[in-house]
Amino acid sequence: MNPRFRNVRRIGPVQVASYIARGRNRHLAPCTAPRCDFSTEYDSRAAAELAARTHRCKA
Ligand SMILES: [Zn+2]
Repeated sequence: MNPRFRNVRRIGPVQVASYIARGRNRHLAPCTAPRCDFSTEYDSRAAAELAARTHRCKA
C-alpha cells in the first residue's frame, strides 16, 4: 500500500486508510476481495469506517 496512507485499519474485507490530498484529509475505503471493485473516498473518517462496516461484499 502507498506509504502516504496512514491509520490503515481493516474492517472485514475492507481497508480504511487516511491520507492527505491537496492539503486536505481524505479517507479511502477499498475492498480487498479480489473480484470486488468497491472503493470509495470520503471527507470524514467516520463515514469511511461506516461504509466499510456496512459493505456487503459481492465477491
Ligand atoms: Zn467487497
